[in-house]
Order: sequence, then C-alpha cells, then structure tokens
Amino acid sequence: MDAVTDSQTFPELRTAIRQLCGRFSGEYWRGVDRARAYPEAFVDALTEAGWLAALIPEEYGGSGLGIAEASVILEEINRSGGNAAACHAQMYTMGTVLRHGSARQKERYLPKIAEGSLRLQAFAVTEPTAGTDTTKIRTNAKRVGDRYIVNGQKVWTSRVQHSDMMLLLARTTPLSQVARKTDGLSMFLVDLHAAVDHGLSVKPIEAMINHETNELFFDDLEIPVANLIGTEGKGFRYLLDGLNAERILIAAECIGDGDWFIERASHYARERVVFDRPIGQNQGIQFPLAAAYAHVRAADLMRYRAAERFDAAQSCGAEANMAKLLAADASWEAANAALQTHGGYGFASEYDVERKFRETRLFQVAPISTNLILSYIAEHVLRLPRSF
Ligand SMILES: Cc1cc2nc3c(=O)[nH]c(=O)nc-3n(C[C@H](O)[C@H](O)[C@H](O)COP(=O)(O)OP(=O)(O)OC[C@H]3O[C@@H](n4cnc5c(N)ncnc54)[C@H](O)[C@@H]3O)c2cc1C
Repeated sequence: MDAVTDSQTFPELRTAIRQLCGRFSGEYWRGVDRARAYPEAFVDALTEAGWLAALIPEEYGGSGLGIAEASVILEEINRSGGNAAACHAQMYTMGTVLRHGSARQKERYLPKIAEGSLRLQAFAVTEPTAGTDTTKIRTNAKRVGDRYIVNGQKVWTSRVQHSDMMLLLARTTPLSQVARKTDGLSMFLVDLHAAVDHGLSVKPIEAMINHETNELFFDDLEIPVANLIGTEGKGFRYLLDGLNAERILIAAECIGDGDWFIERASHYARERVVFDRPIGQNQGIQFPLAAAYAHVRAADLMRYRAAERFDAAQSCGAEANMAKLLAADASWEAANAALQTHGGYGFASEYDVERKFRETRLFQVAPISTNLILSYIAEHVLRLPRSF
C-alpha cells in the first residue's frame, strides 16, 4: 500500500507512529470495543511518547509541531486499525487555553497537559434541545461574587470519565439581552474531580461505537471566576477559533480509515478465490475500491492544503471544512466498498471491518455534520443566502 499512498510526507514521523501502533493489534482494539472499555494502554503509550503534546509550544513542554504533523499522527493511528477518537481531543482542546487563556492558566495547565499528568479532553457544547444551533444553548452561568453558578444540561460530552478538566460553553447573558446571538456565551474550565457529584452529574450514553460519551446535568455547579477563559461573553468566538484545527485533524483520521479499508479490501480481493479466480479480478470488485481510493487521495490533498494555510496563519475555513467533508465521504465510501468486498466475512468481528465501518460512520455526523459543512461552503464560499 505504501507504493500508492502519500507516504512521502513526514516519513520519520510515520515510522515512529507505526511502530507504536504496531504494539496494539486488531485483537486489542476488538477487545476494547467488545468490552466498551477505554483503550488505556494505547493512550498511555501515546502519552508517554509525547505524541499527544504535538501542538503544545515547546515553552510549555510540548513539541511545537504544526497541524500537518499532528494530523499525520492521528491519520497513522486510524490507518493502523486503531481509533484516535479515544484521545484526539487531548491534542487540540488545549488550543482554547493556549490562544485565549490567561498567562496564569497557560502556565498552570499547559505543562501538565504536555507531560500527560492532566487530561483536558472533554468539551461540552452540544445540548439536547439546541442541537447544531449552538447559540440557542440553555446551560447558563450566573456570576455571584467570585464564582459562576452553572445550571443546565449537555449531551454527547465525550471522554468526561477520562479527563481531569473539561471545557464548558455556557450562556452568561440571556439570548434576549444580546445584540448578536453569538454574544453572551462564555467558555469555562471545569475541574471535573471537584465538580462530579457536587453540582455535576454524569450519565453515560450507550452508543453504536466504543466512544465514551455522556449526558451532563448541571445543578448549581460552582466554578471559580479564575476558570473563565478570556473575556466573558466572547466564548462563541473562542469556539470557532478551534474548529479549523479540529476539522483538519478529523479529516486526517478519515484518510487513515480510508487507507485502512482499501488496503484490507485489496489484500482480501487478491486472496479470495471464487469461481476459480481471485474476486479482485472482477471489475465489479475493483472499481468501487479504485473510486474510493481516488477520493481518499483527493481528500488527502485538501487536508494538506488546509494544513499548509493553517500553519502559515492564513484563513483556512473553506479548506478545513472541505477537507473534513471530502475525507469523511471518502472514508465512508471506502468502508462500504471494503465491507462489500469481504462479503459475509465483512460482518464477522475478527476481520475488524465491521468495527471500523461503525467508527468511520460517525464522521458524517460528528463533530460537525455533512449538511452543516455544505451550508458553510454555500454561504461563505459561494455567497449564497444563509439557509437557516
Ligand atoms: C459519538 C459522539 C460523540 C460526540 N462528542 C461530542 C463532544 O465531545 N462534545 C460536544 O459538544 N458534542 C459532541 N457530539 C455531538 C455532535 O457534535 C452532534 O451530534 C452533531 O453536531 C449534530 O448535532 P445533533 O446531534 O444535535 O443533530 P441536530 O442538530 O439535531 O441535527 C440532526 C440532523 O439534521 C441536520 N440539520 C440540522 N439543521 C440543519 C439545517 N439547517 N440544514 C440542513 N440540515 C440540518 C444535521 O445535519 C443532522 O444530520 C458527539 C456526537 C456523537 C454521536
């Protein structure tokens, strides 16, 4: 497969991640999937090797790599058959603290995140009633003296039980009292050890994939004022600032998935003999794989285009969104082709195809759904009227 993927980029980095991931076989990932367990051993190994600190500047103990390198790390995890979603947010959630936090917050948290002694990989934005319409969130934080008192509810907040801190988006000024609906939202750091069972309850959600995700209930949770990030009321802007990085990194995971599916399916199609010929000799098997492969490579180029602009501090909203859209579609196309190529065996857990098939389906919906990306392109690139 190396001959046909873009293995020219960051070869040493890829080799290092492949070596680490090689210690965690399909059997390991099947086991954690079956048990709906957190891949502790894998995340520990990745943390100890320092890879999750890729985007933290060296002055705070990270390796200060660019988004392109960071994306390659996550790509290689998914390409190895694993699932970076268990820990990818540890890489980028800290970006909100880095870009908008106070000097004290940065000095206090970033070195610990870099060394792995503090996990900040939970991010509570989505709510049951607001859904994608983030400015309608109802969770509110009222300032009382040197504290904020938080009430409300979140849903789909991932990795809470494997985080020490969580970022929380809450309304600090009611929607009816702001000039623009994006005003009046604020971002907070929540110390989960202090909060759980003291104003915050956590209810795990059983899901189609092994993804530790939860409903959160806030009942007079107290947060010290010192945990407000940046300026009160500007949280929506801070949220948007982090999205391009997330889009590029998730696109890379999709590309990793896409290559995994195509590699597995091509191998199977060469070996499996039916009607006295390898099934891969039939164009009905070849063409879906070839088409998916072409689409993965096209998405890959858009990922690098977006990463290049991001690392040069140029605007990259369109490129980051297109990379995520194209890559999610390509990985899903590859997943379908791989499952079909495997015939009945695609449904057997031991081939890992059905697990990866479920995992890669998520990217059509989260962290941003395909429709919302199309709306972004229509409105911001094509200058069509906003549809909602
Ligand atoms: C496994 C998992 C993990 C997640 N982790 C997190 C997390 O850690 N933190 C967090 O905050 N959130 C998380 N999410 C939430 C995720 O970001 C949302 O599910 C996603 O953004 C969609 O929101 P929704 O589910 O409320 O869908 P809705 O907003 O209800 O939308 C439902 C469907 O309607 C479509 N739709 C809605 N409005 C429009 C429109 N105007 N035009 C066209 N189509 C439209 C959407 O595209 C979608 O397909 C997670 C979700 C999952 C499934």
